[in-house]
Amino acid sequence: MIRYIITQLTWLLLLVAAVAAFYLEMYWLGGLALLGLACLLAGVFSVRLSMYCKNKNKLRTTDKYVALTFDDAPTENTEKVLEILRSKGARATFFCIGKYAEEHPEMVQRIVAEGHAVGSHTQHHKISYTFKGIRAVKRELREGMESVSAAAGKPTRLFRLPFGVSNPVIGYCVRKLNLISVGWSVRSFDTTAKNIPRLRNKILRRVKNGRIILFHDYSPATLTMLPWLIDGIQYRGFYLVPLKEDNQ
Ligand SMILES: [Zn+2]
Repeated sequence: MIRYIITQLTWLLLLVAAVAAFYLEMYWLGGLALLGLACLLAGVFSVRLSMYCKNKNKLRTTDKYVALTFDDAPTENTEKVLEILRSKGARATFFCIGKYAEEHPEMVQRIVAEGHAVGSHTQHHKISYTFKGIRAVKRELREGMESVSAAAGKPTRLFRLPFGVSNPVIGYCVRKLNLISVGWSVRSFDTTAKNIPRLRNKILRRVKNGRIILFHDYSPATLTMLPWLIDGIQYRGFYLVPLKEDNQ
């Protein structure tokens, strides 16, 4: 709670300072306050900064382990992604939207049965939740975690921020619910990619020990690229592993 209050107060103080400074024509002070606000805003959109919510952005390992992660599951593509992973002997992590997990529990069960990890990705995955207060955000996160855990048949604390967006309220709720927020070290931008060979090469160049790679399993580009990408990663001697809840 103290961290939540401090971050909220910092926002408020910088905002008041910026307005007051420009009103009093103390432009240098106003500029500094705006710079501070820009830094706080950068923290909202960056999982790397972990400003409001501590994110696990890479595996703690010196071994050649890499984690593929698929957001927004289960979708109509999940089955195909699972088949590719099975054919390549690769394991991964699926961050499931609670509502979808409730609609297709059999897919979540299949993900777990095939040795992959599951985490939650809120109940509804709507950007509007980022503007809500503690009670609503906590409910959204808790419902997501409970829906995915129920579908999986086992509890999961792994969690991924929708859109990678956080703020003081979300950070507070993540800590309160004892969730493990997982970020990424490689963002594929697979939902907007047009050139699949270029996307695959870009990812391969960035594969290193412990890297966590973000994909979306509804992305046609990911589905097309995945067998080819996995071949490239495994050829370089890396093992594709699911995330764990311990100190991995
Ligand atoms: Zn998402």
